[in-house]
Parts: sequence; C-alpha cells; structure tokens
Amino acid sequence: MNTFAQIYGRAPEGEWAAPGRVNLIGEHTDYNLGFVLPIALPQTVRAQARRRDDGLLRLHSTREGGAVVEVAVADLAPGGVTGWAGYPAAVAWALREAGHEVGGAELSLDSDVPTGAGLSSSAALECAVALAYNDLYGLGLSAPELALIAQRAENAFVGVPCGIMDQMASLCCRAGAALHLDSRDLTMRQVPVDLAGAGLALLVLDTRVKHDLGDGAYAALRAGCERAAGLLGLPALRDLGPADLPAALAHLPDELRPLVRHVVTENERVAEAVAHLDAGDLAALGPILTAGHASLRDDYRVSCPETDLAVSAAVAAGAHGARMTGGGFGGSVIALVDATAAGPVAAEVTAAFREAGYATPRTLTAVPAEGARRIA
Ligand code: ADP
Ligand code: MG
Repeated sequence: MNTFAQIYGRAPEGEWAAPGRVNLIGEHTDYNLGFVLPIALPQTVRAQARRRDDGLLRLHSTREGGAVVEVAVADLAPGGVTGWAGYPAAVAWALREAGHEVGGAELSLDSDVPTGAGLSSSAALECAVALAYNDLYGLGLSAPELALIAQRAENAFVGVPCGIMDQMASLCCRAGAALHLDSRDLTMRQVPVDLAGAGLALLVLDTRVKHDLGDGAYAALRAGCERAAGLLGLPALRDLGPADLPAALAHLPDELRPLVRHVVTENERVAEAVAHLDAGDLAALGPILTAGHASLRDDYRVSCPETDLAVSAAVAAGAHGARMTGGGFGGSVIALVDATAAGPVAAEVTAAFREAGYATPRTLTAVPAEGARRIA
C-alpha cells in the first residue's frame, strides 16, 4: 500500500510533480519586472491527491512526520495556517480568492527537493498543489495562470514577498532548456542548454546555511528598488537601460545606487547569457556568472561568507564561473565546470569549507529538467 492509501484509507485520484529550480542568471530582477533564466531541477515535490466533498483540506507530508493537518477551505485566511501546511493551504485560499470554486482535498506530499537551500522547494510545493487542484476541480488554468496563483499564495498568505520567477520556473521549464522569462508580461522562450554536449556540468553546492537576516532584508531590498523606480519616474527598474544608468545614479540617494546598478547590470547579464547560449558557446556563461556574483556581493549585498567562499573556491579549482543562486544570505551556489572537473571542484570546495570550519556542503549536479506535470 502506498503512503496515501495508508493515511487516507483509499487510493489517490492522481499524482502531480513540480520541480525545484536553479536560476542561471537574473537574480533579484523578477520583482523589478526584468529578466530571469532558470532551469528546473530533476528534484521534485510530488503531491498525491483526491477531492473531498465536505470542504475539508487534509494535508500530510512525508517530511513532517505522521500528523495530518486539517483545515476547512472556507475558513482559510492569511495567517490562519502557519508552518509547512501554510504553503498548500495558501494555494487553496488563492484559488478561491481568484474566484475559482474549489473545495476540499486530501493531499500527501513527498519530496526530494532540499528545503531552505535556495532551490525553491516552497514554489515546487505550491505548484504541485496548484496543478493537482487544477485537475481535480477541472479549472483549466494555464501554467502562467497557476504560477500567478501560487505567487499570490506565497505573497499574501504565507507572507513572503517573492517575485514570479520560482513559480514560473517550476511550472514552465522544459527538459534540456533554460526559461528566458520576461517577468513583466510573462512572455518566455525555451533556450536550449546542452551541458553534456558541450562537455560541461552544472554543480550545485548547497552551503547548508540560511541566515535569518534574509527574511526582512528581502522585503527591504524590494522596497528600496520600488522607491528608486519611483524617484526615477519609472514604473519599474526594468525600464532603466544601461545607457541611462549613469544619469539615473547621479539622481539617486547614495543608499539606492548600488541596488539600481545591480538590477540594470543583471538584466544585461541575462541578455548576454542568452546570446551565448543561442550561439552554442556555453562556457562563455562562466564569466557572466562570476560577474553576477560580484554584483550580488558588492552592490546588492545578499551574499554571505559561505556563498562567497564556495564561489571563490570553485573558480580557483577551475570552474568557468560560479555564483550564488536564489535570494541569498546562504543557500546554494552554482558552478559551471568541465564535466570531468565536477568531482574535483566539489572536493576543493568541500576542503575549503572544512578549513573555514563550515558545515560540509551538499553537492548535486543539475541537468535542465521538465517542469511541473501529472505523473499518475
Ligand atoms: P526554499 O524555497 O529555498 O526551499 P523556503 O524557506 O522558501 O526555502 O521554503 C521552505 C519551506 O517550504 C519549508 O520550511 C517548509 O515549510 C516548506 N516545504 C518545502 N518542501 C516541503 C515538503 N516536502 N513538505 C512540507 N513542507 C515543505
Ligand atoms: Mg522559497
């Protein structure tokens, strides 16, 4: 008997999977309505689910021990469900908020996406649940529509002011490609990324630290960007091009200048990266990654000693380039390496961490994988 049947005493109606992601380049650009370039990971959150007709949402996760959390969907309100169950409950709430007549369900979640590692297990969880609800209740929503529901769930119910990248990545990425996404209008293009064909590999080094500072800092950075756009008379920082950057910087107070410089140069780095991918020159991404990290470290100030060390050690060990990925203050670093160098680079980073007295990083190799889908 599978887990779902053990818990709920009957079989699920189906099973849905949604992946975590790493972003190749384009960090902290999504809420500035700019550009991002994520790939989906092979690691997924899986949701087995069945409809309930009594309006109850019953939630179970293999990550969270045996307990089933039960809530009535009609009673859902922001702040009403805390902890892990807040994420799936948030999705049911956001669907209803958007006018979709969804009722109860029983859900069992399983996952191999590391949590709190900057690989977006939260969006994977939301998207698996959103897709399950979409099918169980025959809503017929598109992937971008579901991504907006999931983002609203995380923003307004869980209380994390994230942009749209993570949910769009989880729902819209395709195997073998990176998702070149315009965060303003959600237009997107699948850009082929054949790492193996280029003799390359993408290492993910999970530093296993998450500094508490991150939560409030993210909201403050977002607010700073919005303030800068307002002072410049622009709808969003995405509307500032590199040619206008010097004049814009001269117009802004000191504390906002580095934020604006990061966002403008980062959008440029996304465009450069896409051009290199289109030209089939994958190794040329390396210096762009490393420059992106320097911008996050020195201008946006969201790196930390652990991610800085992972980047510098990886580059010293021969990586073409490396950067932190995700919101920052810990989490994971990606390093673009020759396929034959993946093991040695991981070993060098691990040795550098040992020497610095840090926890042993967890290493994965990322292959651009398929976005969210029904699997049973
Ligand atoms: P990230 O998205 O980078 O992994 P977050 O802090 O945004 O980090 O989200 C992690 C949270 O998502 C966990 O603390 C937990 O509440 C929830 N979560 C993720 N995966 C699962 C899972 N399989 N089961 C239950 N909760 C999960
Ligand atoms: Mg998250």
